Amino acid sequence: MGIEEHLPSGILLAKTEKLVGYVRKASLMPLTFGLACCAFEMMAAGAPKHDFSRWGLDAFRATPRAADLMIVAGRVSQKMAPVLRQLYDQMPNPKWVMAMGVCASSGGMFNNYAIVQGVDHIVPVDMYIPGCPPRPEMLIDALLKLHDKIRGSDISGNLKPRESRDEKLPTAAVDHFPKR
Ligand code: SF4
Repeated sequence: MGIEEHLPSGILLAKTEKLVGYVRKASLMPLTFGLACCAFEMMAAGAPKHDFSRWGLDAFRATPRAADLMIVAGRVSQKMAPVLRQLYDQMPNPKWVMAMGVCASSGGMFNNYAIVQGVDHIVPVDMYIPGCPPRPEMLIDALLKLHDKIRGSDISGNLKPRESRDEKLPTAAVDHFPKR
């Protein structure tokens, strides 16, 4: 006889890990962060027509200490790279990063000395969104895919152990930028 038969009906059994993931994905707090034209599409995604608050992506936070999602919307200049890394370091764990648009993902058409050729040289990226610029619907689609990943994450919210993710960072790129 299973344990369910001893329990009154209406009781839901679940792993704590699953419950935490379920709740966590519905209350992401993005950092106020826009670097170029993609940022306008990000703002549009939060406006009434698309209203990504419906999926729990509510108030953009003005401080990294109160944010757990960084949406890198636009190209990352070499000068901005150490600032971006510092903001990432100031965000508490667990935290996630989206590279929005081809510039943030790979440098895009700006294959030159001034632009970082993919923000994953600076911070670990959980979700890449193609397009120039991606439409708000694509950002929402990426958000829903990130929800799935967060639901499957461990209790600490890490999709993989944080140490191994940070180890994969090309440290040469990070070391290149002096800390302020
Ligand atoms: Fe601008 Fe296109 Fe680059 Fe986005 S991907 S920052 S829209 S040039």
